[in-house]
Amino acid sequence: MIIQRVVLNSRPGKNGVPVAENFRLEQSTIADTIQTGQVRVKTLYLSVDPYMRCRMNEDTGSDYLQPWQLSEVADGGGVGVVEESKHDNLAEGDFVTSFTWPWQTVAILDGSLLQKLVPQLVNGRLSYFLGAAGITGLTALLGVREKGHVAVGANQTMVVSGAAGACGSLAGQIGHLEGCSRVVGIAGTDEKCSILVQEMGFDAAINYKKGNVAEQLRELCPGGVDVYFDNVGGDISDTVISQMNQNSHIILCGQISQYNKDVPYPPPLPPDIEKIQKERNITRERFLVLNYMDKYEASTLQLCQWIQEGKLKVRETMVEGLANIGAAFQSMMSGGNIGKQIVSVSK
Ligand code: NAP
Repeated sequence: MIIQRVVLNSRPGKNGVPVAENFRLEQSTIADTIQTGQVRVKTLYLSVDPYMRCRMNEDTGSDYLQPWQLSEVADGGGVGVVEESKHDNLAEGDFVTSFTWPWQTVAILDGSLLQKLVPQLVNGRLSYFLGAAGITGLTALLGVREKGHVAVGANQTMVVSGAAGACGSLAGQIGHLEGCSRVVGIAGTDEKCSILVQEMGFDAAINYKKGNVAEQLRELCPGGVDVYFDNVGGDISDTVISQMNQNSHIILCGQISQYNKDVPYPPPLPPDIEKIQKERNITRERFLVLNYMDKYEASTLQLCQWIQEGKLKVRETMVEGLANIGAAFQSMMSGGNIGKQIVSVSK
């Protein structure tokens, strides 16, 4: 059977900015018949995420991520529908997901590696299983719960960087749901800031590309910052940490501003900021959602409940066509997305 797939065409280099041309669409073939235990799936949605930047390097710098190989098909989070099954627990028409879904239109996969989805949990919005009801939502919820020390009635102020992105837009809302009295977002455009406040209930938002972030933050967080959900690192984080309170907490979710640089993870803070962090006893522990798999099931149900109740507002940036996945990745890495970046794949 003839299929379309996307392979890694070239590496951007550890210090390079990734471009769409790092990926290549090509025609390929898969077997016409499947073996016992296998399923043939049609790809519906693919997830595009910042961590994939590390997979474009020869060495990802982490033991839980494998590098993509040149001229081999890329993979990541995906959702699809079973077209044919020789696996006992899966039938034609079932919707399924995997973290290692190949970037191709149709694939033959090991059925035991797929997770069956219940579309009703997300009001039929299957792509949500890659975002708000998937690993992105889990990252936001478990990050807040495991590292945020948020408590109802404690009158805490949370700041979120990368706030209009997939994790950030959820993390801020979850901050409110879990008890923060004030949530302030930092994002890269006025449109994003307006969506955060008008749609997602953030109390305020700062466009970090305009004006003085430190001054705006002081004005918008008069009692200082108690919880910082950090997606970006770099200068923005240094500014936020400078305004954090004694015994406050950083949720070290990601450091996207450093991903095109050959630096260790997490990147060390500049000496003056590290001094503040230590003197004020600000926690900055590494957070990795993969370390909390035992909490995925209950946390996913919580996320789905909030989605169904309308308590968690979800935004997606949907790009059509497998051919455009490289462009979607390039765009997301430079701020082109609002909410979760998804690629919709049709045959
Ligand atoms: P995302 O925020 O949806 O997309 C990236 C956004 O980051 C862009 O839209 C852009 O928005 C912003 N950005 C890009 N370069 C920037 C820079 N130099 N300075 C400031 N902002 C920049 O991505 P996501 O999926 O939600 O992931 C957010 C972070 O969480 C990433 O660092 C990711 O690696 C991390 N993550 C961690 C875990 C974990 O287990 N710890 C799990 C999932 C994701 P602007 O317009 O605002 O610049």
